[in-house]
Amino acid sequence: MKALVPALVVIGVIACTGAAVAAGLDAMGVGILVAIVIVGAAAIAGTRKMGRVEPGRCEECGGLISPNAPYCKHCGARLRPGARAARTGS
Ligand SMILES: [Zn+2]
Repeated sequence: MKALVPALVVIGVIACTGAAVAAGLDAMGVGILVAIVIVGAAAIAGTRKMGRVEPGRCEECGGLISPNAPYCKHCGARLRPGARAARTGS
């Protein structure tokens, strides 16, 4: 399900670009669309690299929290490092 979202974004952007080109868009418009595609692709790549984008849950209070947050914003409990991105330890 999660992998479907980037795919839909890519398909939508390609469809919009194709429709714009077919409608006779000028070079500048095509350039802007290409820039949007590049930015979108970079955003998708960055999101996939981070691994998880869905909110996490605090083990203490069960509140929804950011997966990268060091502390729970609801109860202040320290969150397990293992629940965050596995980049620590350097
Ligand atoms: Zn909490």
